[in-house]
Amino acid sequence: MFCRDCGNKLTLRFKENEGLVPYCENCGKYKFPFFPVAVSMVVVNRAENEILLAKHFGDEDFKLFAGYIKKGENAEKAIPRELKEETGLSAVKWKYLGSRYHEEKDILMLGFLVVAENGAISLNEEIEEARWCTPEIAKELILKNSTAEFFLGAGYTELGKKK
Ligand SMILES: [Zn+2]
Repeated sequence: MFCRDCGNKLTLRFKENEGLVPYCENCGKYKFPFFPVAVSMVVVNRAENEILLAKHFGDEDFKLFAGYIKKGENAEKAIPRELKEETGLSAVKWKYLGSRYHEEKDILMLGFLVVAENGAISLNEEIEEARWCTPEIAKELILKNSTAEFFLGAGYTELGKKK
């Protein structure tokens, strides 16, 4: 680990209430690690009986629609922007489900249940296919043991509360 400001090698130093934190002797400062934050969206239709899954080029399995939160943006802005960019659909409303650190990509994912306006889907170039599925089918198609599967389960719990 090297300092992002001066390039000096970082050491781990004990900080009260934090534990071991990377420290730069040169800057004389603790350097907490940075990582991106993204939104993961369980996209449902207005009737809330179908879920929209995404299959990216090169992938076998389906995942949820997701995207990075831009610097200076908040999650509430990122949700409608990402949904529009990836599917062409408008987000009507959303509810926070929880968060999970996604180790594979070193990202903190914020999960949301997102209700989308009915409309024609126009996919961006990263996505091969978007498919509306019943909850049962979505559960089968989703990549197993993934962050997407975790949020899908949280989305079902939330949908179940309304019935
Ligand atoms: Zn430094």
